Amino acid sequence: MNAAFGDNMACSAMPPFRRHKFLRLFMTAPLLLPAATGWAVASAGAAPVYGAQQSSITQSSGTESPLPVFEMHSGFWVNLHHFLYLQARLLKGNSSSSDTMRGAAQPDELPVSLTDFPEADIRAWQDAVTFYSKDLAGRDLLLNGDMEIINNQLSAMETCPDLDGKTTPLCKSGLRQDLVEALERAAPVYRAHWWAQQDRANREWIAQVAPIIQKMGVELSGQLADVYQRPWPSQRLRVDVVWYGGPFGAYTSLDPIHVTISSHDPRNRGVYGFEVLFHEASHALAGAVTAAIAHNFRERDKPIPRDFWHALLFYTTGEIVRRDVEYGTMSFTFEQSNGPSAYLPYAARFGLYSGSWEHFRGLLDLYWLPYLDGKVSFDTAMARLAADM
Ligand SMILES: [Zn+2]
Repeated sequence: MNAAFGDNMACSAMPPFRRHKFLRLFMTAPLLLPAATGWAVASAGAAPVYGAQQSSITQSSGTESPLPVFEMHSGFWVNLHHFLYLQARLLKGNSSSSDTMRGAAQPDELPVSLTDFPEADIRAWQDAVTFYSKDLAGRDLLLNGDMEIINNQLSAMETCPDLDGKTTPLCKSGLRQDLVEALERAAPVYRAHWWAQQDRANREWIAQVAPIIQKMGVELSGQLADVYQRPWPSQRLRVDVVWYGGPFGAYTSLDPIHVTISSHDPRNRGVYGFEVLFHEASHALAGAVTAAIAHNFRERDKPIPRDFWHALLFYTTGEIVRRDVEYGTMSFTFEQSNGPSAYLPYAARFGLYSGSWEHFRGLLDLYWLPYLDGKVSFDTAMARLAADM
């Protein structure tokens, strides 16, 4: 953790984020629309009650701006896939993905114990883990195109009892046969021993974050859309809540927009879960930012710094959530001993600002924060960032 950053960001003299721009006519009683097969969700203020498979959280703002609509799922196959991926990585010693510099599995987990399991269960489970460890476990969940397709397909197969169309042609996943066999072989074992508990954790995570979305989601989505100069996506954002969600606890692919987020990762609890969810959603708004970074660095004949756009996204969502917590009426309990005014944004709280990101954070404090304060334009902030990098 970086104390200097926390002190700086907690400065109470800082004005609310461009508050004048956000006096929108948003309704204080959000609508919750259960999907057709969905969870019944109670009205605002009460804890959501879940009965089936999915939950759609939407809000009405009375403005022309698209509303944030998260469609939350706790799906069997996509959870099994990520759990097998984790177990295979643990079997391989939990090393970094071979094709990227992205990190080792978090949270720190031990391989599951199979003690006292029936012999057939042990064999079926170990076969599936071995299959994953041969190839898939070395791939990056986000950056590897095959993994993205697998995740999207298994997400769509949520209600299917099988993956190769045995019960209905709608359940033909189109995934490679050896993967389908491994998943179907592991499925009864997973269902018997882990699924109930992991599904419950997913639903509890949704129940915890839903009231915060209802309370702060409209305002935050409007703020992010203004900052990034992109409208909030008009379609529902599919969110798969999974027990294990990869080394970073969440990731987002964009075509279509698909957020995968861990319910078990200790970093995703309380308001931090809310911040991560909107960080992930903001990946869909980053087009103007990445284009401006590319333009400004090329104009100065400078190499585009790796991941700078991503540090900017973390910085921005974290700073706006911090201000919403500090100046808004967010009064939820979260993993924070010093109360709401000491909210330390996710990236600072969980140590992302190290190496080149530490340098990025200093520049963002100098040149991007004035933009968030409404003191300089987007173009000026981008130009100054590129000039001083
Ligand atoms: Zn991200």
